[in-house]
Amino acid sequence: MLRERSNLLKTLLALNLRMDFSKELLWEVNRFELGYEYECKTDELFEKGNWLMIKGLSLSRRGKFLVQMDLLVLTGDQILLYEEKAYTHPVSDCLDGTIEFTEGGTRYTHPLEQLREAREYLEIIMERLNISLEIDSYVLLTHPNGNIYNLPKWTKNVLIQSQITLHVDEQMRKRKPPTSLTAKYHAQLSALHHDMSEYNSIVPKYDYHELRKIVKCPQCFGVINEIPRGKKLINCPCCHEQIVVVDIIKLAFEDYKMLFKKTPTAAEMFHWCGGVFSKIRLHKTLYG
Ligand SMILES: [Zn+2]
Repeated sequence: MLRERSNLLKTLLALNLRMDFSKELLWEVNRFELGYEYECKTDELFEKGNWLMIKGLSLSRRGKFLVQMDLLVLTGDQILLYEEKAYTHPVSDCLDGTIEFTEGGTRYTHPLEQLREAREYLEIIMERLNISLEIDSYVLLTHPNGNIYNLPKWTKNVLIQSQITLHVDEQMRKRKPPTSLTAKYHAQLSALHHDMSEYNSIVPKYDYHELRKIVKCPQCFGVINEIPRGKKLINCPCCHEQIVVVDIIKLAFEDYKMLFKKTPTAAEMFHWCGGVFSKIRLHKTLYG
């Protein structure tokens, strides 16, 4: 099953172009979206293994976000925990638990630190749930240009993109196939998922009346100004992909629900889409 974007990313994508984002926020959105695309690609590499996967497990405690685990692979004898980073160019290890993208630039938490933290939480949870599997954990640099310079020599669990396929093959040979107990663990861990990302403070304040009433391409999220009456397929003016018109309506519908936490009526959808679709068409597609 295809991994879903986090609610935070969905919210930001829904707002983008309906309002003006600062350069910094736009950079964040693009970074999240790129991360998501590479997570999907990495999932594909792991899909061929005989094991169970949890894609993007987000944990909270007492209404506070705790930790995000990008990928968990459950086998018969081990749980593999992965922290994924889609760095588009090499970063440097500052040797103090941080990394920097450019020399002297802003320092960010080292992915190995994030991995360590995620692993600690996982150990606590597994103990609580009585799950007795060993944990093995890795940082995956999923973009082909990603690397971490200056890593201590003994670092074993950071894999660059070209090593991931080999790693997956190796795990397929070494790991035991899942059992009914593994399936039980999978269900127990999946049940803990709680997406808190919508509470993230980087989402700007928004108001229905101030948002632009437009529709967007479900492939590239570019604005589509015109859709000929009765057409079922169109070519997106931004990415030039062939797009099913119903999917454009569905995206606008999902965006509305994500932003306003309620299901819009046909009249509300007509207004939300800026009159691009007739009320009849919206009614047929969404409520028919
Ligand atoms: Zn497009």
